[in-house]
Amino acid sequence: MKGRIENVRGSAVRAGAAILVFATAAAALAADVVQPPPGGWKPKDMNRPRPPVRDPGPPSAKEFAPPPAGAVVLFDGKDLSAWERKPSAKDADQSPAPKWKVVDGYTEIVPKSGGISTKETFGDCLIHLEWATPAEVKGNGQGRGNSGVYLPGQHEVQVLDSFGNDTYPDGQAASIYARHPPTANVCRKPGEWQSYDITVEQPRAGKDGQPGSPRRVTVVHNGVLVQDRVDLGPGGPASGVLFLQDHGNPVRFRNIWIRKLSAPPPP
Ligand code: MG
Repeated sequence: MKGRIENVRGSAVRAGAAILVFATAAAALAADVVQPPPGGWKPKDMNRPRPPVRDPGPPSAKEFAPPPAGAVVLFDGKDLSAWERKPSAKDADQSPAPKWKVVDGYTEIVPKSGGISTKETFGDCLIHLEWATPAEVKGNGQGRGNSGVYLPGQHEVQVLDSFGNDTYPDGQAASIYARHPPTANVCRKPGEWQSYDITVEQPRAGKDGQPGSPRRVTVVHNGVLVQDRVDLGPGGPASGVLFLQDHGNPVRFRNIWIRKLSAPPPP
């Protein structure tokens, strides 16, 4: 009888020890989850947790498909006639013709020559483009393969070499810059072609005392949904040009087209 009681006691002690080990492990895991500070993360906060790194796999044929019928083709690999240059105010040459290289079906940023914007403006739309950061890796953080897709209206979807290159999460590839990190880092290697499919839902003013709707942006990076109808707030312009940033790195772009989802609202 005594032996049985000791066995029961032994089992209870072992069970208690197991619970203690489990609780300690759970507490350690909880301590690893970084909680946002009161008031939320500040823009460009390096303490913010990094989105998980995921392999998007090789591109499907659909990912790099030609423009669909009805799309506005902005760059078909041949010329930049749909674009105009936006030189800096300090640039002695204010000519509007883009200076980016066009070669082998892609355009490559000529650093310091200025970004380029479309001549046409867009409201609600689906934007497709393909991009590649330099195969020869130079710099780090925001200085490696930086460009950007400035959406019609406002906000930049960041272009950056985020393959093994740490930066603040709301400034990595596929972030809404200084606003919203992507849910995952699905960047391909430097020099490899990548794709963005970006849906822009422009803000709407409310009618008859009803609330309006905010700007919403969806980003599919390399076939992976990483920004899902992110709410970027009410107000702001409901149409504008598409602008590609010159951040001083020779990033490449190809196969750029836009499908209009509705007519832009009158100015
Ligand atoms: Mg940028």
